[in-house]
Amino acid sequence: MITSDLSIIRERLIQGDLIGLPTETVYGLAANVFNSNAVSAIFETKNRPTSNPLIVHVASLSHARALVNHFPEKAEQLAQVFWPGPLTLILPKNKSVSQLVTANQPNVAIRVPNHPTTLSLLNQLDFPLVAPSANPFNRISPTTAEHVDGYFPSIYTLDGGACKAGVESTIVGFEGDEVVLLRHGAISIEAIEAQVGRILNRTSPSADATLPGQHKKHYAPSCELIVTYEPLFMLSAVKHKKIGILWYKAVKIKSLQVDVNLVLSPTGDLEIAAKNLFATLHTMDRMGLDLIIVERLPAHDLGVTINDRLDRAATK
Ligand code: AMP
Ligand code: MG
Repeated sequence: MITSDLSIIRERLIQGDLIGLPTETVYGLAANVFNSNAVSAIFETKNRPTSNPLIVHVASLSHARALVNHFPEKAEQLAQVFWPGPLTLILPKNKSVSQLVTANQPNVAIRVPNHPTTLSLLNQLDFPLVAPSANPFNRISPTTAEHVDGYFPSIYTLDGGACKAGVESTIVGFEGDEVVLLRHGAISIEAIEAQVGRILNRTSPSADATLPGQHKKHYAPSCELIVTYEPLFMLSAVKHKKIGILWYKAVKIKSLQVDVNLVLSPTGDLEIAAKNLFATLHTMDRMGLDLIIVERLPAHDLGVTINDRLDRAATK
């Protein structure tokens, strides 16, 4: 059920129910962080392993401070620049945050989402919200209220329009004086390094697969997906019946073998490509294709994040 009525959403959350929550990244499946039954219901509803911790969404930096023991200087600096916005900080939790939320880790993931309706909702609540993406585990992330409603029709989803960033938040942790990148996301490495200097990159899929968020397969459409710099070369090598190609900025050549040609950003703007990524994959997923071939993006700025999502969508 999709609604624009904040009071319904607020009431549901107070009652301990889950709701679909718009943010600038993707839609979340949200619940009261302090209600352990509601938090458990998130894992069950998404079919998400309880070893995969949840991000806590707060109204402001001071609300974030209330959940942690210590706010490192560089974390503070990044929060001042990027909040509200798609940057998640991993910080040492205090007792108010349960182990269920953090998958038994001493740290909690926190951010202030940059969405006007959701910020006003958070300001009307006396608890923060845990909100992983509102998709069943491993499926394509939702970027509209309709996507969420397609996955979870029995819960209320707050309509906040199409997500502006369209990919999940960037996640960073802190080790001593170092900033450590843990997940590529809607804020580029370049933008973070412009604030705090060089950061360590621990996002490689070859890193410890037991670390939260390092699950290789994710974001997958129901048919096979291949990512390549050379879609036409790939086309000559496959024998699928119904094929779609998702191009970065232009359809390079029309081929009779291809049923669908779509483009992520005709102007080659990486932010627009990110915004359109999941919505376009949802569209292609509904076309009954046997194979989606996606043109790999240039490996800088948000191209890195988009390629990361595509590589995971392609993992079998
Ligand atoms: P999602 O909400 O589905 O975008 O996923 C949340 C992701 O945040 C997880 O998969 C982890 O990568 C990361 N995360 C959340 N909490 C923590 C934490 N305490 N420590 C490290 N990473 C975390
Ligand atoms: Mg997710």
